[in-house]
Amino acid sequence: AKEQGRNNFQFFAPWMDSQVSNRLEMLISLRRALDQQEFKLFYQPKLSLKDGSIIGAEALIRWESPEQGMISPDRFIPFAEEAGLIVPIGEWVLRTACRQNKAWQDAGLPPVPVAVNLSPRQMNPALPDFVADVLAQSGLAAAWLELEITENVVMKDAEKTVAALHALKRLGLQISVDDFGTGYSSLSYLRRFPVDALKIDKSFVRDIARDADSAAIVKAVISLAHILNLRVIAEGVEDEEQHAFLKENGCDEVQGYYFGKPMTAADFTRRLGEEAGR
Ligand code: C2E
Ligand code: CA
Ligand code: CA
Ligand code: CA
Repeated sequence: AKEQGRNNFQFFAPWMDSQVSNRLEMLISLRRALDQQEFKLFYQPKLSLKDGSIIGAEALIRWESPEQGMISPDRFIPFAEEAGLIVPIGEWVLRTACRQNKAWQDAGLPPVPVAVNLSPRQMNPALPDFVADVLAQSGLAAAWLELEITENVVMKDAEKTVAALHALKRLGLQISVDDFGTGYSSLSYLRRFPVDALKIDKSFVRDIARDADSAAIVKAVISLAHILNLRVIAEGVEDEEQHAFLKENGCDEVQGYYFGKPMTAADFTRRLGEEAGR
């Protein structure tokens, strides 16, 4: 139901009934959220499967609404995309994540790349210059930024997307394909697109132990990634059984509640601090 909700406005119906009675009001409250700084970034650790060390962070947006409390991105990102507000929101996310990562580095914490999710709408010809500006303004070296794109980004306008991705890569950042295996695109884009990593979607990881097909898909994606010289990361790892399977089958990195839920910047700072003392 969650996945269906992405492109379906009925998804908002229960909420709209109570507080936000129509799309215009939703638009107004999202705009206000941006102006009043009601958005927060949480950070979830990515760990190496070799030694369990933290080797990255994914920035995940939340909306701290004065009326509604904490609102998860699945409940407002699809609307923001539809309404065109994803561009300014995405700019805020990128700026905030880069600044935060620079602050961690300046504090002497172990340096890790920060990953930012990109919506298809953000993938426009102006993006590489914008990213370059954000990096310059924040002082973060491009190597410490990773962009997570979905297969759908790739489908929109293949030629323009290829050009923008190459321009982004020239800046020196990392690009990974999120939710790998859930989109409709053919695999051929993997040859033309300058990507560095594949993220195995959490729906496959969840079913590793109870569904032989999911286990086989996970193994196949790990092999595919390695044949193509890509890193592979599994998301949504929730227990030891999944962890063991992924390690045994040569997955490079893991992310999931088993290792750490998305947390505030302050909590992630502490987590990185513990890492320094390992
Ligand atoms: P995603 O990029 O696939 O992010 C992974 C989602 O899985 C996150 O949900 C994360 O909190 C959740 N997750 C992490 N570990 C586990 C686990 O072990 N088990 C389970 N069941 N879930 C886990 P979240 O934070 O609610 O974000 C949902 C989606 O919203 C993201 O999916 C991403 O598509 C989108 N999103 C989040 N932040 C941003 C953003 O800044 N910009 C854009 N454009 N989209 C964003
Ligand atoms: Ca992601
Ligand atoms: Ca994902
Ligand atoms: Ca997802």
